[in-house]
Amino acid sequence: ERIVILGAGESGVGAAMLAQKQGFDVFVSDFGAIADRYKATLTELSIPFEEKKHTQELILTAIEVIKSPGIPDDVAIVKAIKKQRIPVISEIEFAKRYTDAKTICITGSNGKTTTTMLTYHILKKAGLNVGLAGNIGHSFAAQVATENFDWYVLEISSFMLDDMYAFKADLAVLLNITPDHLDRYDYKMNNYAASKMRITQNQTAADYFIYCADDEETQKALKNTTVTAKKYPFSIRKKIELGAYLEGNNLNININQLDQFTMSISELALQGKHNIYNSMASGIVAKVLDIRNSTIRESMGDIKNIEHRLEHVAKISGVDYINDSKATNVNSTWYALESVQPEVVLIMGGVDKGNDYDMLKELVKSKVKAIVCLGKNNKRIHEAFEDDVDVIVNTFSAHEAVQVAYHLAKKGDTVLLSPACASFDLFKNYEDRGNQFKMAVKEL
Ligand code: ADP
Repeated sequence: ERIVILGAGESGVGAAMLAQKQGFDVFVSDFGAIADRYKATLTELSIPFEEKKHTQELILTAIEVIKSPGIPDDVAIVKAIKKQRIPVISEIEFAKRYTDAKTICITGSNGKTTTTMLTYHILKKAGLNVGLAGNIGHSFAAQVATENFDWYVLEISSFMLDDMYAFKADLAVLLNITPDHLDRYDYKMNNYAASKMRITQNQTAADYFIYCADDEETQKALKNTTVTAKKYPFSIRKKIELGAYLEGNNLNININQLDQFTMSISELALQGKHNIYNSMASGIVAKVLDIRNSTIRESMGDIKNIEHRLEHVAKISGVDYINDSKATNVNSTWYALESVQPEVVLIMGGVDKGNDYDMLKELVKSKVKAIVCLGKNNKRIHEAFEDDVDVIVNTFSAHEAVQVAYHLAKKGDTVLLSPACASFDLFKNYEDRGNQFKMAVKEL
């Protein structure tokens, strides 16, 4: 029985390993060039593959196709596969068939990686036999093929959810739904929200759904979806009966009347309003798993800052330099701006995904003294903010942007890289952008 894998990245190569182990006839096809390290793995395992093309005769004989999340449904090969009625699934769907491990699945427009890392950190510290996988850059299938975990913390993107059918999360976390990737959803927010809500599919009353009660789109989506799992909402705006909420400076979690977890938000290692949400979500997961309050408190207090997410790089001449290169949409830049000290020299720009900058205006007016654009085409940023800040300058490399920001910032200011845009015009990816920024700061 032939299984074809489209896309030879982390998830595709992991799926190929697991499919081979399960005795399938495996073939991997990638329309681009395959990275050397993945080619080496496939060669070593004698798994046949092709690159820079999709050969239909080799693909349409499959009983099932595992598609990488990066490949949209409207490319020719996927259309041809669907026309033949060959099922197309994600690597996560495939891998789950071959493990009895319980899964904690974390999705949302922003905060997935942070919440996934924090949850994993708490579970590890509690001594659970737990794996970390999914969109975070480690293949779930590869781990199912080689490891024996009891639990998995999985970061799940909407593109993965779109190809998941029988999969069920034991604990599902939905952090928020704000506009992103709409190009893959016919530019309809409803389609994107429906994709995110698939995190609750197949759940029963024995499972859990953890979500943000302050998020309007989630509340809207909940009205149109039947969720059977036990629900634990979290909020920083109102008191929650069973779930998590903020009372003054205290983060409270109570999933039953008997046991209350309380921690001051000043003790959280991950600072910023958005991280209160992320900590609440992770904390509820930990309480459902019956992890001790002292372990949760300790883990939330000592987790290391995650690279490229509000990462403090250096303090130079009294100016803080912060790398938030992972902020690739407007909403994440809002949270970054919200959480840093004024005055701010904001480095932003790149590939604009049809951004609506309106929501940033108020924060820019009150906190930002200058915008340093970093991108090939900065027209839309100029248009959006020219009335709100005195200085908007264009730069075309991280080095140049940091140099300009250095001259604009005074003692006590913050230089924040939080682009609100994708990075592909000038950089390989957001990591490359963040690393070049950090290097330029270190040169100062
Ligand atoms: P994701 O994996 O969903 O892209 P990350 O955890 O990598 O999210 O965070 C990306 C950026 O989004 C961060 O740099 C931060 O500015 C912002 N962010 C993090 N958590 C949240 C949240 N809960 N709500 C809104 N923005 C967030």
